[in-house]
Amino acid sequence: MPHSIEPAASGRAKCRGCSKPIAKGELRLGERMPNPFAEDAEMVLWFHLQCAAFKRPEPLLDALASTEEDVGERDALEAAARNGVEYRRLPRVDGAQVAPTGRAKCRCCREPISKGSWRVRLVWYEDGRFDPSGFVHMGCAEEYFGTAEILDRLQHFASELGNEDVAAVERALRSA
Ligand SMILES: [Zn+2]
Ligand SMILES: [Zn+2]
Repeated sequence: MPHSIEPAASGRAKCRGCSKPIAKGELRLGERMPNPFAEDAEMVLWFHLQCAAFKRPEPLLDALASTEEDVGERDALEAAARNGVEYRRLPRVDGAQVAPTGRAKCRCCREPISKGSWRVRLVWYEDGRFDPSGFVHMGCAEEYFGTAEILDRLQHFASELGNEDVAAVERALRSA
């Protein structure tokens, strides 16, 4: 079965991209992949469309190309997904946070990320799972990702951030 876009049959499934529930009736991406635990079986990973655009761009673009559903925001979803195909590391963005300690090293410059400074949280996708995979300095984002236009992704996956936090993140991004 190809990847598909379909309305959520219930409100019980959680999005793999953000771990939040997908509302009943909301259009979602079903990414189909071989089940690593059972031969000749498939498993389906569900995503909010926006989360899929940011974290699973190829399956979303496949599904958008073939869906007969009326997808609102189609152009914006496609643009975000194409961006993630062009800049291969962008789908690793998993939000922004203040470093609680000074122990983690930046995946880009290998220098420590000082306690209390903003950092980009990264995840690594493999076999249907996203695992935490470290951090980069906000100021290293452009070098690491190839583009510094990541504020929308940071905000999307760190929905707890207030307006002042977002402004601080934006300043940190531009500080490179
Ligand atoms: Zn989601
Ligand atoms: Zn760095």
